[in-house]
Amino acid sequence: MRRTCLLMLTCLLVAAVASAEPAVGSRIRPLGRGEQRLMRDAVSQSATVRRLAERIEDSDLIVMLRFGLLSLGKAGTTELLSVVPGTRYVLVTLDPRAVDHDRVARLGHELTHVVELADAPGVTNAETMRTLFRRIGWPSSGRDNWETAAALETARRVVEDLEHPPVHIVDMAHARTR
Ligand SMILES: [Zn+2]
Repeated sequence: MRRTCLLMLTCLLVAAVASAEPAVGSRIRPLGRGEQRLMRDAVSQSATVRRLAERIEDSDLIVMLRFGLLSLGKAGTTELLSVVPGTRYVLVTLDPRAVDHDRVARLGHELTHVVELADAPGVTNAETMRTLFRRIGWPSSGRDNWETAAALETARRVVEDLEHPPVHIVDMAHARTR
């Protein structure tokens, strides 16, 4: 009985925390508060990131987003973690040392790779992933590292979104400083 109560309490607390956070969708799951803040800010500040997030919501992917140090030269990675019927799990890791616009641009870059996976439902393992990126991209440094023009272009567009925010966001920023 005691155990049941504890479990229910935990569930209620989790529900309360979940409802306190503005929704950025249920398929992109930031693994910590910093990641949560980044995702929320990116969606509100960049129409490009918002469009990517909407496309991911309409996919079979569950995307875990975390900060983590990566091997030399890498600022972010997108990996296919596992596949179960109906759902593919993806892990996006971002170097936490990137800051400000660079960090949001890097998020947009990796979310573009996620959308590339969303657009290719046949990618379910390393081999099919290789086939996809051989077709839409080119080998980057190291084994099984790939790059695409779309991801590079997204990063550029995200920086543009951040440098030229829509008028209403500028107004809100002014309102806060008064
Ligand atoms: Zn890339």
